[in-house]
Amino acid sequence: ISTMVSNSMVMPILLGISSYKKNIDSSFSSTIIFIRRWSIFIILILAYLYEKNVAHYVSLVSIGLMSFAAITQFAPALIAGLYWKGAAKNGAVAGILIGFAIWFYTLVIPSLASTGVINASIVEYGPFGISSLNPVSLFGLQGFDSLSHSLFWSLFFNILAFTIFSIYSKQKTNEIYQAELFVNIQKHASGDNESLWKRTAYIPDLNTLLENFLGKERSQNLIKGYALRNKIDIDETSNIADPRLVDFSEKILAGVIGAASASIMVSSVTKEEELSIDEVLKILQESQQIRELNKELRKKSLELTRATDELKKANLQLKDVDALKDEFLYTVTHEIRTPLTSIRALSEIVHDNPDMEEEQRSEFLGRIVKEIERLSHLITQVLYLERYESGRQKLNLSSFSMVDLAKDAHDSMEPLAKLKNIEFQLIRPNSTLLLHADNDLLRQVFINLLSNAIKFTPENGHIELIVTDNSDEIVVTVQDSGKGIPKDAQPFLFDKFFQARNQTLKKPQGSGLGLAISKKIVTMHGGKIWVESEEGKGSRFVFLIPNFMARNI
Ligand code: ADP
Repeated sequence: ISTMVSNSMVMPILLGISSYKKNIDSSFSSTIIFIRRWSIFIILILAYLYEKNVAHYVSLVSIGLMSFAAITQFAPALIAGLYWKGAAKNGAVAGILIGFAIWFYTLVIPSLASTGVINASIVEYGPFGISSLNPVSLFGLQGFDSLSHSLFWSLFFNILAFTIFSIYSKQKTNEIYQAELFVNIQKHASGDNESLWKRTAYIPDLNTLLENFLGKERSQNLIKGYALRNKIDIDETSNIADPRLVDFSEKILAGVIGAASASIMVSSVTKEEELSIDEVLKILQESQQIRELNKELRKKSLELTRATDELKKANLQLKDVDALKDEFLYTVTHEIRTPLTSIRALSEIVHDNPDMEEEQRSEFLGRIVKEIERLSHLITQVLYLERYESGRQKLNLSSFSMVDLAKDAHDSMEPLAKLKNIEFQLIRPNSTLLLHADNDLLRQVFINLLSNAIKFTPENGHIELIVTDNSDEIVVTVQDSGKGIPKDAQPFLFDKFFQARNQTLKKPQGSGLGLAISKKIVTMHGGKIWVESEEGKGSRFVFLIPNFMARNI
């Protein structure tokens, strides 16, 4: 018992005093002997007094039960410490202290009272006559034997205090670390490092520590033996001791001065705390980090898939554009070939027949000239379109009156309309409708729409060119009484070569590019163009140009 008292009670207290701990040297072993001897003496005295005054009246069994009740106070902290990470040192201390206090009050005091060591009135009426504080019926709890009564209240307050203090006190780093190690024992038990604490110390410090308690020779032998067995390098020059060596030293020390004191002594030479913070953080963050890493990876792969998807899409678009270019090239060459073929045929006929009649010859030559005109018109149109589409054509902006432009277009096209006896009317507002735009390009749009209208309107029909001012945009409408456009053809009307694809042979006049060019010009001005038509009821082409000038004035 004296060893227990010295190792587990007196020395931990002594070593807890830092000024005392600092001055420990090889004379400390005699201090231990001194403490143990005095413990023996005091224990004997106490035992004698107990025997004299108490034991006589209390059976051994009840003393044993009383001790068990006391030891039970460790149970809540012990068990919760294994399964509850939130269990804190403060909670354990508070629970055990209050548990012991109540144990003492409800079990020891009555037992002392029954032996007459203290006044028996306390178990009859309670302290100072307060019956609810009566140690044998605390808070009025009756009907239990004294042991059950004491166990109930002591454990009740023990657990309560333990829980409350654990929840409301902040755990220290090493507590968090310990909780992680104890509660997640399965996770950390496997692993190559035997020492979970990973403490390190300077070898000379460790040596001095052991020598103080074991003597120089014995401690040297023990350390060297352990190092040899476990292949640990204890070369003095490396200076830092292996964590396993530190654990080993603590074990040897525990054999001499007890586990509690050994732990205190070893911790005084180790650098465990610095390291343990790293370790704790590592352990705690590991799972978190892995989770975050996973998330990050998932995000990355998602981004990658998205990027590939976009690339695929872009590739498809490129292929589409490529196909369109091929088609365009094919159509253009095809379009050029037709007039070329007839030019060649006609020229050959003229060339091979020098004695051809003058009238026929001039007719053939006239047709050749027409075909060449058509050819050059086509090429000009293709070049225009190419220029607009590549964006090389810049708008040549100037301020002019839209009404004047419409009148010009009307006047220049009127002779053509007259040839087919078509009534051609211009409807315009009184204002001049000043506009800031590219005059030449817009004129081309007018000519395209008007020549189409004349081309597709039968004799004696009528055409209207209407210019209206719609607050900040100018609306131009070309309406004819022609044959109209089928609904299913309307969506493709503004495509390149639309006409060419469908009616080249019937209408050799057009290139099939006029509407495509017109649309390009209108969009370059930020405007819109569309068609409204019903078959047999004529067509109406409308385009509008935003008038930024009107907004500014
Ligand atoms: P083109 O120069 O051959 O006229 P456009 O692009 O100007 O080519 O017109 C394409 C096609 O749209 C024409 O071939 C014709 O079929 C149709 N179209 C255009 N304007 C009219 C209209 N006013 N009435 C009927 N059909 C039209």
